[in-house]
Amino acid sequence: MTQKKICMLGSFAVGKTSLVARFVQGLFSEDYLTTIGVKIDKKRVEVEGEPVDLLLWDLNGQDRFLNVSMSYLRGSAAYLLVADGTRKPTLDVALSLHEKARATVGEVPFLLLLNKADLADDWEIEEDAVAALQAQGWTVLRTSAKTGTKVDDAFGMLARQLVDP
Ligand code: GDP
Ligand code: MG
Repeated sequence: MTQKKICMLGSFAVGKTSLVARFVQGLFSEDYLTTIGVKIDKKRVEVEGEPVDLLLWDLNGQDRFLNVSMSYLRGSAAYLLVADGTRKPTLDVALSLHEKARATVGEVPFLLLLNKADLADDWEIEEDAVAALQAQGWTVLRTSAKTGTKVDDAFGMLARQLVDP
């Protein structure tokens, strides 16, 4: 069985844990889920008819990430950068985490998720910023762990890039 390690990277409370829970369990909770240390969830997906186990590594806040970045990231086949669309500074955090990830694991597939797409009225991340990243070849998806919008798409897209880069 092919197993692929995928790291969830992003600032505090952007929805990393919620996205994994939505994808793996099909659940969403309004409760604040504080992840202590590293949690690893597994989900089997099919890519071109072949099963692939995604090992989803989820870590708590950014400070913790800075401390353990090397061991957390080592062996990652891909990563998901997550920002909270309603909090613009979380995009900057995602961009700096991208730099750290690249420095550690090199050029592996990644996607940028602008999460909390259900909160459209509070949206802060501007279209220009997104367009600039897309112009550099980034794939950017607006997801909602709450409604499920684009969540399966995001993990599925990443899985396909892993198998067929
Ligand atoms: P993490 O720190 O990045 O793991 O973030 P969490 O998954 O713990 O989510 C932080 C908070 O945002 C929690 O209260 C979640 O219920 C909430 N949340 C996560 N994703 C969404 C979403 O897509 N929409 C809304 N409205 N809230 C979300
Ligand atoms: Mg979390």
